Amino acid sequence: MIVITTVYELIKKQKNLTNLEYNKIYKILIKNNLFDIPFNIDFLDKKIVKLKYLNKSARGLFKLCQRKFDLQRVKGIRVETEKTFRNMFGGNLHTCFDKCWNRINYIRIIRTKSEYDLAKYIFRICSNLIPKIERGTKIESGYNKYIWKYAEYEAYRIYCIFDELGRVGVKSYIFPLYRELKIENYNINETGVIDVIHTLTDDTCAFGDYKTGNVKYYNDKWGRRSIEFELGSYYNLLLDMDNVYRVVKGKLVKMEYLRLKNGFVVYLNDWRRTFKYIELKTSMITELNKIKEELIEAVNTGKFEMRMDDFCFNFCEYLDICLKDIRFKNRYWRMDPEIKKRVDDIFLPIDDLD
Ligand code: SF4
Repeated sequence: MIVITTVYELIKKQKNLTNLEYNKIYKILIKNNLFDIPFNIDFLDKKIVKLKYLNKSARGLFKLCQRKFDLQRVKGIRVETEKTFRNMFGGNLHTCFDKCWNRINYIRIIRTKSEYDLAKYIFRICSNLIPKIERGTKIESGYNKYIWKYAEYEAYRIYCIFDELGRVGVKSYIFPLYRELKIENYNINETGVIDVIHTLTDDTCAFGDYKTGNVKYYNDKWGRRSIEFELGSYYNLLLDMDNVYRVVKGKLVKMEYLRLKNGFVVYLNDWRRTFKYIELKTSMITELNKIKEELIEAVNTGKFEMRMDDFCFNFCEYLDICLKDIRFKNRYWRMDPEIKKRVDDIFLPIDDLD
């Protein structure tokens, strides 16, 4: 135990970890290593880096912009912006989509007269879960917009089941098998949260992801790549069930075997055209592994590509840092006068400042 106490602060400090991150790493990696093999800080160092970089959100960030990954994950620079609000909004919405299933009544569902009637019922339950502090504010209409789309999508999904099987004995297909499923996969040292897993009418399973952002379409080449990447990330977590655990109230429970066959990514802004069960393929994971290799290469060489497009100006909290980079400056020098002015202001010689 003394060893644990001694290295605890050291590892936390060296790796700039929060208590929560340390506890997670301790549970997954350190605990066993301390007992199974002689303690070795270099070994742990590699493991911690791996765990911090090789998870779904880290990969997603790397794909979005390598430079942003570098600033946020490697250099640990945090910039508080409105983005935090957007993330909270998305998080709260996901909580509504999850918790509403604790209140939805099966009998009430099967007695609905129409898909529209069911959508209204789900909407009412879901919208009661909007955080109290945000009710009666402008934000509430934002929540309601997405909750209505979610309710419409669920009503459609459920009425497809009615059309196929009728309304008797269909509860296990209507209610999600898992919601907000936290997974820890010890084989690949990855963790992730899966929005939902459904049992389909052929008794196979499909995992799903709800998106509130810009819509991507599966029949579009780039959209498909992006959706398959998302699906590959979840598939990778669940593929080899041998060493896969779900986290239940902080404890690890061995994951039961699932007959996973499909996945779906539903973009609520256009759920009618994006809700589709997509067959899972191992090629989805190959694509994912390519990103992993690129990520490791970039971390090891310290070379991170910059995105440099409209996204930077509209959505990225690191813009002011990037604008100081000569690559950015060169690229945007002849652009929109407004942007040039902003770049000029940032590069204003110290002497010219008041
Ligand atoms: S401003 Fe652009 S290049 Fe810089 S981190 Fe953000 S997305 Fe990447």
